[in-house]
Amino acid sequence: MNWEQLPNGKWRPAKKPVAKGKIDQDAYGYEQRVKSAFKKIWVYCDRCEAKYCLADPCIHHLTDSPEDRKKYDLYKKVEKEKASSQETTRQVKF
Ligand SMILES: [Zn+2]
Repeated sequence: MNWEQLPNGKWRPAKKPVAKGKIDQDAYGYEQRVKSAFKKIWVYCDRCEAKYCLADPCIHHLTDSPEDRKKYDLYKKVEKEKASSQETTRQVKF
């Protein structure tokens, strides 16, 4: 890794030159640009048997962002509740 010295004497990892056509991560509005780029990208999910948009991924393709972690936790909770309600139905049947 390359380092560059700041005017205050501290060191930080040097910025990599941004390749043409790539998005500069330090540029203002990076997140918005990534999001709008993601809105155009659709990927097929085998488990959903449907396409999902990268800006709003399905439960199997969530990112590690806090928002997506929350979605996933909620999904797990719902699945758990479903499983336990199925169990009670089974118990009633037997
Ligand atoms: Zn999926």
